[in-house]
Amino acid sequence: MRKCFVLALLAGAPLWAQQYDLLLANGRVIDPKNGIDAVRDVAIRDGKIAAVEPEIDSRQAKQTLDVSGLLVTPGLVDIHTHLFHTTNIPDAWAGDNSVDPDSFSFRTGVTAMADAGSAGWRNFEFFRTTVIDRAETRVFAFINIAGLGMVSNMVEQGDFNPEEVARLAKKHRDVVVGVKTAHYEKPDWTSVDEAVKAGKLAGIPVMVDFGYFVPERPYWQLVTEHLRPGDISTHAFRGPVPWVDESGRLYRYLFEARRRGVIFDVGHGGGSFTWRNAVPAVRQGFYPDTISTDLHAGSRNGAMMDLPTTMSKFLAMGMPLAAVIRAATSKPAEVIHHQELGHLTPGAAADIAVFRILKGNFRFRDPFGGVFPGKQRLFCELTLKDGRVKWDWNSRTGIDYRKLDPLYGIREGEQLVRPPQ
Ligand SMILES: [Zn+2]
Repeated sequence: MRKCFVLALLAGAPLWAQQYDLLLANGRVIDPKNGIDAVRDVAIRDGKIAAVEPEIDSRQAKQTLDVSGLLVTPGLVDIHTHLFHTTNIPDAWAGDNSVDPDSFSFRTGVTAMADAGSAGWRNFEFFRTTVIDRAETRVFAFINIAGLGMVSNMVEQGDFNPEEVARLAKKHRDVVVGVKTAHYEKPDWTSVDEAVKAGKLAGIPVMVDFGYFVPERPYWQLVTEHLRPGDISTHAFRGPVPWVDESGRLYRYLFEARRRGVIFDVGHGGGSFTWRNAVPAVRQGFYPDTISTDLHAGSRNGAMMDLPTTMSKFLAMGMPLAAVIRAATSKPAEVIHHQELGHLTPGAAADIAVFRILKGNFRFRDPFGGVFPGKQRLFCELTLKDGRVKWDWNSRTGIDYRKLDPLYGIREGEQLVRPPQ
């Protein structure tokens, strides 16, 4: 070993030359799980985080991308999306209103998404083969307790089968992260309780979209009695969720539910977020546990837009930046029992998002036309998954074209046929 070291020194190249594949230099790293909020260099090797240090010699890396002035975070984890986008195949029995994961993920800093029950126990395996296994994004799924999932609201009213959901969850435990019930219209607790039964059988959390709010099953009973610690109440800021009493103070049951360990998830969507509920919650220090989009065909071009926009809304309300990042990275990863994601610990997969914090006077809308002002907005410039650049808005990975081969861009088997002079 010593002889090698001496030879390397003689050759003028240190032994450790280019031990890293990629270096993200000079960014402000916010990695809430590791308590980091500081300017750091992030080195990547073999698709994994190799080092996060105040200074890493760029000569140790094959490629260095300067991200000074930008925010470097773990790749975002969005636990409420709809991705069973084979809907347009006739008779496919696919989830309604779904979108293609890769068309929305990397361009917004998202590296992992969980589909929230677009497929049920009757069509989950079709969802897996047509979408989950083909996506570049890490796609996870909550299986709908209703057989055909979200083909329509009508089919979510019954056909519940906790045993079959649990069997599939165990068989596909690499991608199934929970059980979902949504859009239930009847005045009883059947859909919630059947979903919880499946969750118990498989040892996974339940995510509840409380559907149609009816007096027979009040929301406070959902979060203080029916859901277990670790279960998720999505659409937490929906209009009919009671947040404040007549004097504007948060209801006590919310704190009781939080103490029990129930997870409050945003699930913004096309009609499930109101400033009227979110502003007093955030102002009184009751932040959502997880910030998610409820991305689907009906929310993507509406007030929701994408995860960075949804996160920026919470920044606008006064939720601290590190708390916002945590609610979209390590916390959702923990909620879906994938603690290997959502942080930049050396050894973890190099899933990384790089944002510019735009400054200005922005207006943020809720789906009902309500507007709230904000001074900053997250904008994704770069996304890596497993250490590979998947989104490069400002072309940091490119070089001046004049430095390329004079005839670059001609593929093997093609020729440049010049016309006669
Ligand atoms: Zn949804």
